[in-house]
Amino acid sequence: MPPDGPVVITLDGPAGVGKTTLARRLAAALGVAFLDTGAMYRAVALSLGENGWDLPEPQIAERLCRLQFSLHGSGDETALAMDEFVLGDELRSEEVGRWASLVARLPAVRECLVAAQRRMGSARSLVAEGRDMGSVVFPHATCKFFLDARPEVRALRRYNQLLRLGQTPQPLEELVEALRLRDEQDRTRAVSPLRPAEDAIMVDTSDLDVEHVFEQLLQQAKACLERREGGGVR
Ligand code: C5P
Repeated sequence: MPPDGPVVITLDGPAGVGKTTLARRLAAALGVAFLDTGAMYRAVALSLGENGWDLPEPQIAERLCRLQFSLHGSGDETALAMDEFVLGDELRSEEVGRWASLVARLPAVRECLVAAQRRMGSARSLVAEGRDMGSVVFPHATCKFFLDARPEVRALRRYNQLLRLGQTPQPLEELVEALRLRDEQDRTRAVSPLRPAEDAIMVDTSDLDVEHVFEQLLQQAKACLERREGGGVR
């Protein structure tokens, strides 16, 4: 990305680490858009339907690469749309997360979604969260973070998040196991496995509250922006 192009800040890490909350708040504080790439994988998984990941890949690519993704608004108010349907909290169940993780292993799916993510990141400044934002999609991002936390801490956070969304979460022990399986799938897949970019700032959030982590990310992001030639966000 040219130094005078849009600013991209990346947040990667496993499920339940707090990426969505933090990325949204960071985007609001910096006055840029927020890109939830997990929502894109969840939405395509739903549009393919259960076992859609078993279709022949050319057929999957043909369906998915026609989809148009767009970002509207910025900060906390950012809306991500797929063919004009705004993607919302209905995608946030653990079952859809599992489907998304199965679909996300397919190279054809990743190619279409990575292209869409890069198009959005070259059109405007954003905070992008996912698994491969710093390592693959935006290798020249202005600032890269990789968040992690102990599995039982992440499961508890996800449990509370599902409760807040009005869903009935599965028992905590089952959720720990579901997240463990999804992480393993995400870390060991052949294409774009979950891993930190070499130049990512590593943050372990296990024993930190969200305010503390947010302040830390904001200060580091501001420092990255100051170092950036030309400075500032446009
Ligand atoms: O972050 P979230 O839980 O919404 O992501 C759902 C799934 O989508 C992840 O488990 C992962 O398999 C996939 N994903 C991905 N690459 C991204 C974002 C999400 O593979 N950039």
